[in-house]
Amino acid sequence: MPVTPRPSILAVEPYVGGESKVPGVNRIVKLSSNEGPFGPPPASVAAVAEAAREAHRYPDGGATAIREAIGRHHGLDPARIVVGNGSDELLALLILAYGGEGTELVMSAHGFLMYELSGTWAGSRVIKVPEKNLMADVDDLIAACGPRTRLVILANPNNPTGALLPQGEVNRLRAGLREDILLILDSAYAEYVEDPDYDPGQALVDAGNNTVMTRTFSKVWGLGGMRLGWAYGPANVIDVLNRVRGPFNVSAPAMAAGIAALSEPDWVKKSVAHNTEWRGRMTEGLSKLGIKVHPSHGNFLLADFGDAAKAKAADAHLRSRGLIVRAVASYNLPNCLRITIGTAEECQMVLDALTDFRHG
Ligand SMILES: *Cc1c(COP(=O)(O)O)cnc(C)c1O
Repeated sequence: MPVTPRPSILAVEPYVGGESKVPGVNRIVKLSSNEGPFGPPPASVAAVAEAAREAHRYPDGGATAIREAIGRHHGLDPARIVVGNGSDELLALLILAYGGEGTELVMSAHGFLMYELSGTWAGSRVIKVPEKNLMADVDDLIAACGPRTRLVILANPNNPTGALLPQGEVNRLRAGLREDILLILDSAYAEYVEDPDYDPGQALVDAGNNTVMTRTFSKVWGLGGMRLGWAYGPANVIDVLNRVRGPFNVSAPAMAAGIAALSEPDWVKKSVAHNTEWRGRMTEGLSKLGIKVHPSHGNFLLADFGDAAKAKAADAHLRSRGLIVRAVASYNLPNCLRITIGTAEECQMVLDALTDFRHG
């Protein structure tokens, strides 16, 4: 008899990340993982080098300094923050802790894939609720919840659609869910949102004991390779995360990089200004080419080529020029490509390539 894992494990399709190589092409522009275009904050690079000198020491398992730095930056109580090896780790821990055999996890149809993967791992039944115009539908999400539902997870803005669910709708979602359902608000792209009504989650977290927000240093902060994310939640949920996480789940260099990033002057302001400008220019440029672009509130665009064959051909054309974007057929969006907003030069390369694609 071979060794066998729990049956739910073999139902998990391994996550396929954004690609970074094209055979035969030397200069690669990677626009497939929504990484910030400016590299890591310089202060973080220095902090990682410094932290490496103490690499023989275990990190602070309580993550006190980074939790305090996050708390200061965002005006949050550090006691109600937990850091993770990327927010993916925290999402998985929450999904495993609150889900499992005999329970249901509800998400929207084009929600972030990791929820489904972790939900499947947990043995939960994952219910994907159809969206309207690529936007989560609050009434349908609420209606999809049954007596076994324990978790509802919403990325806002959502990846890969870029959709922002208006704050009133998010509030209505929470109000419409039973009290024993944990609502996870995944706000990985919060910094890019310019809608003044938007709240990444703090108000709903503070209003009860059944909503938790996750955040990441991987996108606007340019630290995807360090693996650093965090959750802000009510004391009862934070207590659960502290029971199930590894005692040293975040490395010392990652924590040092995060602390330094938060002190980098104007980093977010500069990144968001660039993103807004080029998201607008790319949207306009692609629209002029007859490529439909869904309104995005993140650092990426979802470009709709009308059918799957055209999307594939566009992808191949971009690749031939070393431009790697993300095919999103695994999100049930075979007609679309997700394009990360890169530097000005990289964005222009995409526009030029797609102009040639349309005209040739
Ligand atoms: C990138 C992303 C994450 C994961 O980020 P990490 O902190 O790097 O694990 C989570 N949710 C969404 C919606 C994302 O796009």
